[in-house]
Amino acid sequence: MIKELSELGKAIRTQKDENEWVHDALKEEPISIEIVINEDGSFQKIELFEKKMTIVEAITAKKGKARLLLDKAEEVLCYGGKKSEKKHALFLSKLGSYKTLKDLASVLAFYEENKSNGVEKALNEFETAIPDEKNQKGNIGFRVQGCGERIHEKTAIRQKIIEKYETSQKTLLVKSQQICSICGKSDYPVEDIPHGMIKKVPEGQSSGCALVSYNKNAFESYDLKGNNNSAICTNCAKTYVEGLNSLLSSGNEIVVKSKKGKEKKVFRYSNRKNFGKDTAMLFWTMKNKDLPEIDQLEAPDPDDVARLIESVTSGTERDSRYLEPDQFYSCTLSGSAARIAVRDWIETSLFDFRKAIAKWFQDIAIDEYNGDLKETKTHYARLYDLARSCQRTNEDGKTDKHDASLARVAVSLWNGALNNATPPLWILTKVLQRARLDKYGVTADRAALIKLILNRHKKGGGFVITETIEEGNRPIAYVCGQIFAKLESIQYAALKDLNAGIRERYFTYAMTSPASAFGRIFNLNSKHFTKLKSDKPGLAVTLDKELQELCKDVDINSFSATFSLEQQGQFAIGYYHQRQKQFNSSTKNKTEEE
Ligand SMILES: [Zn+2]
Repeated sequence: MIKELSELGKAIRTQKDENEWVHDALKEEPISIEIVINEDGSFQKIELFEKKMTIVEAITAKKGKARLLLDKAEEVLCYGGKKSEKKHALFLSKLGSYKTLKDLASVLAFYEENKSNGVEKALNEFETAIPDEKNQKGNIGFRVQGCGERIHEKTAIRQKIIEKYETSQKTLLVKSQQICSICGKSDYPVEDIPHGMIKKVPEGQSSGCALVSYNKNAFESYDLKGNNNSAICTNCAKTYVEGLNSLLSSGNEIVVKSKKGKEKKVFRYSNRKNFGKDTAMLFWTMKNKDLPEIDQLEAPDPDDVARLIESVTSGTERDSRYLEPDQFYSCTLSGSAARIAVRDWIETSLFDFRKAIAKWFQDIAIDEYNGDLKETKTHYARLYDLARSCQRTNEDGKTDKHDASLARVAVSLWNGALNNATPPLWILTKVLQRARLDKYGVTADRAALIKLILNRHKKGGGFVITETIEEGNRPIAYVCGQIFAKLESIQYAALKDLNAGIRERYFTYAMTSPASAFGRIFNLNSKHFTKLKSDKPGLAVTLDKELQELCKDVDINSFSATFSLEQQGQFAIGYYHQRQKQFNSSTKNKTEEE
């Protein structure tokens, strides 16, 4: 994973403009404040402006270090009094180490010969120039009055930074001679300094998190110290950090319409999807291709899904887009304070990735009756909705935020969609629990998830669940689900009272202990049937005939005492399929009557 992130970082560097400075010794940092000085080092003014990016000396960690010519007010002006003295001293000593450079003369004079008219004056005016405390935390750079570029942006200064960096790398290389575990070379030394911070990790600290770090003895082994434990060279360390930071933050603003039709701008990540508040899935390809298939997972369009399945499974591969050789990568990250937890890593060919997504849609496809359109259509659930269908709900019907399983389910499903992995059975337990306890019962999303898990586990003795209702030979638990749905509709026809529905009272019982449950439900049914026969004899005969048809396929006197987890899943699917069929045929009956 680190190797591929490093390759990505290198690829991003080569895409940069020729005129841009790209080197391990340099890095982009934000700047929002300028101290303008005269040639003689006397202070002119302090200016605040909107945050911009600028290329400066790269330092991998702030602690105990100062950057050349660009830093916060504590370092640059000794703002904050005594407690800033150490930071300010570091800043001055860094400046001192470059003092032979002609371009630095004005700044050096600002701190030395012209002190009272320079740095002291700037410090006195700092709060007046920048009254807002938040703005005071911005990075400060220097500019000589009348000069277009800032002092740290001058070519001679950047070249000197690179020169110093390369000299120190060479010295280290002579000492270490270690082979890098990522690039397999010893072109750059392995240095025991932090690799650099990863920003925007979900639930990570705002200053950034470390992916590889040995800040405690407990993480070290074989007598190796610090970064020698992972042996990542300075170049690979910088490039993987750049690659990862780019994946976490790349994107652009798009305009979306709210439900009320109002337009607003939202930021859309290009290589990242968030699941829950603590998990992010990152994805990319070696050749940096757009991946519309990932958007499909989020908002499936039936026509696009059909096209994808067709082109991947037809064997003729008419669509050349699906044949391009490229590698697909995905890593799933969660932050925990200053560290990053890698929850998953997927590496596959782009072709297999697309095949997996096509297979995913086939496995989650399920028929759903649409009451508004009065027709049955194939339902392709959003991956996020599948994950959410396992989440506990509160009494108000909203999902329970304390149920932390959402991200865990999503990670498994992500792997199932992108890598054709089989989701674990504990997700089946979870979704069945929700189907039993939630007032919406077996929704299309839940049925899709149950179908996916049962089919991928091949649990069902060769019985493969399809999108639509099964005829002919099918497992007993599936038929029991169908019978339950039919009994429910007879009760509904007789009583029209949803409050005392048999689903609320008997669904769990019937799904887990069929023998005893069905005995009681059939007794109850005979009462409903008697009532229905006197109210609507025609309907009573039809429904009873349909019930008898279903009961013919099983021996209702020899139901097993309990159903296994897989059978419970089959029961739920049988129930779901039967209900969709009933919705459909009841519409048809009504239309015929009319
Ligand atoms: Zn390396």
